Amino acid sequence: MSSVNMFRKASGFARLFRKIPPMAFGLVLSLAPISTPPPISRASGADPGISTEGDLPIPHLTGHFTISLTGGTLAGDACLTNIASQDDSVTIVLNSGLRIRSVTGAIFPAVREEIEPGGAAIRHTFLRRDTQPDPQTGEDSPETICLEYSGAFPVYDPDAGNYRETDESSVIAFTGSLLRARGISRWHPTVYTPSTGLAAEAMTFVIDIQCAECNHILVNGVGIEAGPSARFETDTPRELLLVAGDLAVREAGGITFIGRDVPEESAESFASTVGEVITFLEGYTTLPFGDAPRVVTIPAVRAPRRGQLWGFLSDPVLAIVGMTVPEVVEALESTGRPRQAVLGFVAHELAHRYFGWRLGGGSPQRDLFGEPFAVYLEMKALRFFEGDAAYTRSLQNLREAAAQMNFPALPDADADSFAGSGYRYTFAPAALFSLEDRIGEELMRATLAELLRAPEAERYLADFSFLEKAAKRAGVTSEIWAQWKGLP
Ligand SMILES: [Zn+2]
Repeated sequence: MSSVNMFRKASGFARLFRKIPPMAFGLVLSLAPISTPPPISRASGADPGISTEGDLPIPHLTGHFTISLTGGTLAGDACLTNIASQDDSVTIVLNSGLRIRSVTGAIFPAVREEIEPGGAAIRHTFLRRDTQPDPQTGEDSPETICLEYSGAFPVYDPDAGNYRETDESSVIAFTGSLLRARGISRWHPTVYTPSTGLAAEAMTFVIDIQCAECNHILVNGVGIEAGPSARFETDTPRELLLVAGDLAVREAGGITFIGRDVPEESAESFASTVGEVITFLEGYTTLPFGDAPRVVTIPAVRAPRRGQLWGFLSDPVLAIVGMTVPEVVEALESTGRPRQAVLGFVAHELAHRYFGWRLGGGSPQRDLFGEPFAVYLEMKALRFFEGDAAYTRSLQNLREAAAQMNFPALPDADADSFAGSGYRYTFAPAALFSLEDRIGEELMRATLAELLRAPEAERYLADFSFLEKAAKRAGVTSEIWAQWKGLP
């Protein structure tokens, strides 16, 4: 995820562009590269998304969910299976606005409740009973838990100027004509694993959504269906982004645009930028990107701030919150930092196709393989599209910011270290650039490819030693590796 404020200092990516002048509208720039980039060859083949061969403990969600857009209510009747094994308990995470009405499975009622960092959700810990036979199959089923729950949320009306103070991924956002809820809002139950300190963010699922007031319902990774009810099913683990309500759908330039209707010219222009960025990423990583993203534009439920957007890749959805596609295109057609900020945003988010939930699902160092590498690729894209001066300036800003930070080196980082945005977006990326200083960009790119091509079971447990193994497979010598201490 990242947020971009083209005028002010903001969190995440935009820290790199803190002195950003007002947008210069209407000046059209070519997207052709203006520096000498590394050689790029377009890769081909299948989506590198998470494959599910093997028997990893990736949760599976089933259930039925009912939404009222005008009432701001959400009710779920859901089961999680194949949850990571803990000896005597299971911990389920659910949005703090959702009240659990009943729980079934091989468990006792909740013995402990604690707030998830960030404050939007609660971790409910249940003790296991002795293994109970599954009533349907007769087999032991200690790894299933089912919950009935419901909640009512405020309904904001952005058109009437009725806003929250802030908006972010953890919000279950109702606008009266739309619901937006990311997986991280915990609108559906997920499982928290104490041994890694992390909740599962991607899972397989078969779910039904019912919403009488919705003309369209989208559940990420599976598609968009006509309301008032629809079934979504995937055996490829995905984050569950739920967007339901009054949605326009348009195809342009090989991309599906969902949300506010987009003028065809803007849609074509943005699709062309997305295509250029994908070609860059495929060349840099030497791995195919796979299917084009879907672009979903969603109104923010906080007051509009000129020039600010935030967004995220909830693969395959590239979500843009708080700016329309024409506004994004206008920034891309400007000069200087507004264009660089938006281009960096697009490159960063699309880089999460490679560096996201497909690495580290069972590792306390999972988040080394998300934001730090997305920032790394975003900077390389900046150099490719905007030239050496923009790249050098951004890299210098990153390094100066990291030099102010006193954090554990990468080998010693745990889930708590990565929980801070300074570690994920600044310190760890700067450490990757310091590795590149020692081994050179060619071996760095080969290391990235080794990370992405590693067998699924290795990727699932990805941690610092996995990075070391990949670097050595790529040709980094033990001597050079030993000189790098995992610090910026
Ligand atoms: Zn990100």
